[in-house]
Amino acid sequence: MTEVQATPQTGKRVLLAKPRGYCAGVDRAVQTVEEALKLYGAPIYVRKQIVHNKHVVRTLEAKGAIFVEENEEVPEGATVIFSAHGVAPEVHEQARARSLKAIDATCPLVTKVHHEAKRFAAEDYDILLIGHEGHEEVVGTTGEAPAHIQLVDGPEDADRVTVRDPNKVVWLSQTTLSVDETMETVARLRKRLPMLQSPPSDDICYATSNRQQVVKEIAPQCDVVIVVGSRNSSNSVRLVEVAVDAGARAGYLVDFASEIDDAWLAEARTVGLTSGASVPDELVRDVLAHLAVRGFAEVEEVVTANERLTFSLPQELKRDMRAAAAGARG
Ligand code: SF4
Repeated sequence: MTEVQATPQTGKRVLLAKPRGYCAGVDRAVQTVEEALKLYGAPIYVRKQIVHNKHVVRTLEAKGAIFVEENEEVPEGATVIFSAHGVAPEVHEQARARSLKAIDATCPLVTKVHHEAKRFAAEDYDILLIGHEGHEEVVGTTGEAPAHIQLVDGPEDADRVTVRDPNKVVWLSQTTLSVDETMETVARLRKRLPMLQSPPSDDICYATSNRQQVVKEIAPQCDVVIVVGSRNSSNSVRLVEVAVDAGARAGYLVDFASEIDDAWLAEARTVGLTSGASVPDELVRDVLAHLAVRGFAEVEEVVTANERLTFSLPQELKRDMRAAAAGARG
C-alpha cells in the first residue's frame, strides 16, 4: 500500500477500507426478501433477522416483511424466509408441519459448513465446531449432527474438549470469526489432539477474511477505526477487535453516523473506516459526510482485494419467479 499524504488544510484524513460492507451471501438474502415481497406481496415472514443489521431489518419491515423468532409465530400456510445464517434441519421440519412455504436464504458458504458437518458425522468423527455460543449460525450447524458436534468458544475452551477417539476428530468453524483467534484455538486444540484434521476448505468465508485483512493494513496508521455494523453482527464486532489488535489506538462500532462521539475524534489525525458484511454502503457514506463536516474531508480508499462473487437466488424463489413471468407472458 502506498503512504497517503494528509491534506495540508487540516492534516486530517480518512482511510476507507475496501472490501467492506455487503458480501455475496447478504446481498442474496436481502434480495430474496425484496423479490419475495414483489412476487407474493406483503406480508412476508422472515425467521430471525435476515442479516444482522438494524438498518436493513427496519428497511425491509417498512416494505412489509415481518420478522419472527420462530416458525410458530407464522400463520399456517404463509411464506417464511430463513435467514442467511442457516437453520437446523428441525426448523425445516417445523415449517413442513405448519404447511409453510419456506424459502431458504442461508448463505451457500454456511450451507457448505452444514454439508461438512453431515459428512464427518456420517463417518463418525468427533467434530469440534469453533464458534460463539448461541450464535444462530452455530445453532444451525450444530443441529445437523448434535451427537457429534462440540462447541469450542475460543482458545480457552480448547482445554476443556474431550473426544472419543483422538485419531478421528476434525475442527470446523463459524464463517464469521477472527481468522487469527481461530488459528490460535486450532493450535491449542492440536497440542492436545495432534491428529486433529482441518476442514476440507476454509470455513471462515472470503468476505470475513478480506474485511479483516484490509483492516489490518490500515489500522497501524489510524488513531481511530470506526466500524459500521450492529452489535449482534459477529463479523462487524470482530473487525473492531482486529483493528485494535493490529495497532489502531481505538476502535468503535456504530450502527449510524449519529452514534459517533466527537470526543473519539478530538485528538485524531487519521480515522480508519470500514463496515461489516451486512452493512449497506449508504451507512458508510453517511459516516463519511459526518467526518467531512468535522475536518476529515480527505478520503483515501485502501484496496486489498476485489470481490466479484455473487450467488443466485434460492431455487424455490427462482422457480416461482419464472412461473410468474411465464404467466404474465400469457
Ligand atoms: S459473511 Fe460470509 S458466510 Fe456470512 S453471509 Fe456473507 S459470504 Fe456468507
